[in-house]
Amino acid sequence: MSLDTGSDQPLVRVEGLRKYFYEQDSYIDRLFGQEPVAVRAVDDVDFEVHRGETLGLVGESGCGKSTTGETLLHLQEPTDGVVQFEGQNVFELEGDRRNEFRRNAQVVFQDPFSSLDPRMTIGKTIQQPLTVHDVGTAEERRDRAQELLERVGLSADQIDRYPHEFSGGQRQRIGIARALALEPEFIVLDEPTSALDVSVQAQVLNLLEDLQEEFDLTYLLISHDLSVIRHICDRVAVMYLGEIVETGPVEEIFGAPKHPYTRALLESVPRASTDERDRDRETLSGDVPSPRDPPSGCRFRTRCPKVIPPEDVAIEQDAYREIMTLRELVERENISLEVASDHAVMTDEGIDVDPSDTDAFVADLKAHVLDTQLPPKHDAVVEEALAPLANGDWDESATRLRDAYESVCELENPKLGDDVHPVACHLYDDER
Ligand code: SF4
Repeated sequence: MSLDTGSDQPLVRVEGLRKYFYEQDSYIDRLFGQEPVAVRAVDDVDFEVHRGETLGLVGESGCGKSTTGETLLHLQEPTDGVVQFEGQNVFELEGDRRNEFRRNAQVVFQDPFSSLDPRMTIGKTIQQPLTVHDVGTAEERRDRAQELLERVGLSADQIDRYPHEFSGGQRQRIGIARALALEPEFIVLDEPTSALDVSVQAQVLNLLEDLQEEFDLTYLLISHDLSVIRHICDRVAVMYLGEIVETGPVEEIFGAPKHPYTRALLESVPRASTDERDRDRETLSGDVPSPRDPPSGCRFRTRCPKVIPPEDVAIEQDAYREIMTLRELVERENISLEVASDHAVMTDEGIDVDPSDTDAFVADLKAHVLDTQLPPKHDAVVEEALAPLANGDWDESATRLRDAYESVCELENPKLGDDVHPVACHLYDDER
């Protein structure tokens, strides 16, 4: 690792970056009056990468890490935001300046099997960027390719071989050689070792570290693998559902994580010692919500083990989570009332519950949708809230639950601060 964060001017500054993909946006869709649906892959992301450092971008698959890397390099058109490279807005570069950026900012892709053209010798592959940018004579380009092959641990004699003649680790070395051909300052490493055997991963990471030292490189390392991040990064940015939720020096993120998502990610890493395995864990539950319809407020709230109840509500997290799930089902009208209760009959007019059976109907409903017994005080509130469903009044039921249990976590999206170790979580609001 080589860290130089002393410079005021970061090499890369990302501000308010958004990348939305639109579904139902074809001519036919518009003809039939379909509204385009935005898939918010990257949503208002800010970060900096300083010269000589490695910033790790980590998160579960589908959180928007790779789209961030591609948009930052202008391989994808941004929906909004600015990326400055050496102080210049990458999205406005034209002509020579654009070419210069393309030379200076390279990428190593995840899959060394598909990122190399099987019909091209590896020599041609490595020379390709030099040819595109018209650098050197044919002989000089070949010499450079041989030099790079040696530098990444392969042999210059292998220059006329084809990708299929190499192992996965060797192909990734070829991809790295290609990325180095134009002597870039900055490389986006997109899951550079995830397709490789564990035994080869460390060798490739060590090579990347050596090259960084030798060529003063700056890296943005995209990975879902925390051990890779820990091995090579100076700082880490944790991403969840298109947003950055925590950033900080690698030792702080791993030693004293703040955001419940970061903690859960770290807890999900298997531990060797039995003591460690038996400790209290904040594990991740539930599925990642769709970026088409992200939760209101904090996007992690549907899986967070620390959701903040209203100030006047004293309740254990498990019970609160149960009630939140119930509320979501009610708001989405996602309970089959006649299946949930023997006391409900579906008629042409809707649900029909004998008024003298309302208590029994509510009891059936609770047994159907709740996994645990709620504390008596909350049990009574929930019963009162569910009673309107006996008349099919979903809105009133949802309103009663919302009035009693709405959390700041669903009302306000917490913002990432700008100190050394900022976190986007309402648990830390007092610190700001
Ligand atoms: S803001 Fe609330 S839901 Fe989001 S991580 Fe913090 S405690 Fe959890």
